[in-house]
Amino acid sequence: MQDRKHTPVKELLASTEVDLEVTVKGWVRTKRGNAFVQFIALNDGSTINNIQVVADMKIFSEEDLKQFTTGAAVGVAGTLVKSTGAGQTVEIQATQVFVYGVADPEKFPLQPKKHSLEFLREIAHLRFRTSTFSAVFRIRHALTFAIHKFFNDRGFYNIHSPIITGSDAEGAGEMFRVTLLNAKNPPLKEDGTVDYSQDFFGKETNLTVSGQLEAELGALALSKVYTFGPTFRAENSNTSRHLAEFWMIEPEVAFADINDNMTLAQDMLVSVVKYILENCEDDLKFLSGRLLDEEKSKPEAERSPLELIEKLKFVTENDFVRLTYTEAIEILRESKPNKKKQFNYLINEWGADLQSEHERFLVEKHFKKPVILYNYPAAIKAFYMKQNDDGKTVAAMDILFPGIGEIVGGSQREEVYEKLHRRITEVGIEEKSLWWYLETRQFGTVPHAGFGLGFERLMMFVTGMTNIRDVIPFPRFPKNAEF
Ligand code: ATP
Ligand code: MN
Repeated sequence: MQDRKHTPVKELLASTEVDLEVTVKGWVRTKRGNAFVQFIALNDGSTINNIQVVADMKIFSEEDLKQFTTGAAVGVAGTLVKSTGAGQTVEIQATQVFVYGVADPEKFPLQPKKHSLEFLREIAHLRFRTSTFSAVFRIRHALTFAIHKFFNDRGFYNIHSPIITGSDAEGAGEMFRVTLLNAKNPPLKEDGTVDYSQDFFGKETNLTVSGQLEAELGALALSKVYTFGPTFRAENSNTSRHLAEFWMIEPEVAFADINDNMTLAQDMLVSVVKYILENCEDDLKFLSGRLLDEEKSKPEAERSPLELIEKLKFVTENDFVRLTYTEAIEILRESKPNKKKQFNYLINEWGADLQSEHERFLVEKHFKKPVILYNYPAAIKAFYMKQNDDGKTVAAMDILFPGIGEIVGGSQREEVYEKLHRRITEVGIEEKSLWWYLETRQFGTVPHAGFGLGFERLMMFVTGMTNIRDVIPFPRFPKNAEF
């Protein structure tokens, strides 16, 4: 059995031919039957669907199948035949069985019943074996591929930005330090602060919070680039939408403005969601059912009005609303939850930072569509954003999705040296830490724009999973770095 070539379950289930001699290898999901015949549901992760193995007890003994318990790794050889049972078109009449690895039913934590997502998070080393997580991670792969495909088809080049960085793209305070200095007894400077010049890189270094600044350098030569890599934030936000380690896609385009940027982001979101609708039908159907079940336990008012697949189609078939920050503030100020003081943060005046509750109100209650907000007050946005002529706003844009809130944050970048330099000084960033970034504005600078898409936020939207910890294999969050 070990040296016999096997066929993925997905291929067997799609077979139009029958009476073939086949071999499958995978993990037992369930076994049921009687003294005459046993039915084994086998899954190898190639598809959400199991293949049914039929073991005629005239051929096999009780002993042969004793170790065929939930979770055991097995191989089966037999004949692929038309199935007479409901739920599948083909099944395997077994002629030979083999056990690769047992799973003691007394100890194996996954049983063929519903486990809570919280429990499964504690056994993340095994949760791939469940239908829910295998579907989520197959979709994660498909979504990764769809993103690379979208950019490749449009002539973008993927660049790898560094993970260890000496610069802080967004402002200090939420980075993980990378150091080899002795934590108990670090070398100190005369003023008593730590002397990082004696550290591995000869300076203070951190894990990156964004690959944007490096992507900009690439765009100013390759015209269209994107990064797709891990990013790290030490913010202590223990929410269902934040991870300490997450993946970000950051395209950057030369000779482009804020409008091109919004169009690119929308095209990309529509394109990759379409790809998933077209290529992950079985997994989506399963996850849609899962979500409907989960929603049943919620109060009526909190349930999503759309089923998962309808929700995805809604994004691919409707235009996104484009709205300035100023217009959004007007809508929010006049909104019912603001007037009735139901928002935790009331919107009183222009300049207020928008909280998740406001974003969700706009998307889910007011427009009922994805919303692109643009032209934000400079004071609440990053230093590198293009300063608009009004003297108070910058050409920033955020895309807000139902159920998620912010999924994309981007902007046109300030390409004029003097303006960028002034802003860097104003916000108190050390000029010498960004000399290379500033220098690009002196040598062949051009208008350019880009955005950051949080990959796991998009995964949440596409899979309908409501906690970001359930769309990445091994989530990193405060007080958790197991596995
Ligand atoms: P938020 O306000 O939701 O914390 P942000 O303004 O900090 O987001 P950006 O710095 O603009 O986000 O990052 C770009 C994108 O990365 C966001 O639109 C979001 O999709 C994603 N993102 C940001 N922080 C996290 C996080 N901690 N975990 C997962 N995704 C994140
Ligand atoms: Mn944040």
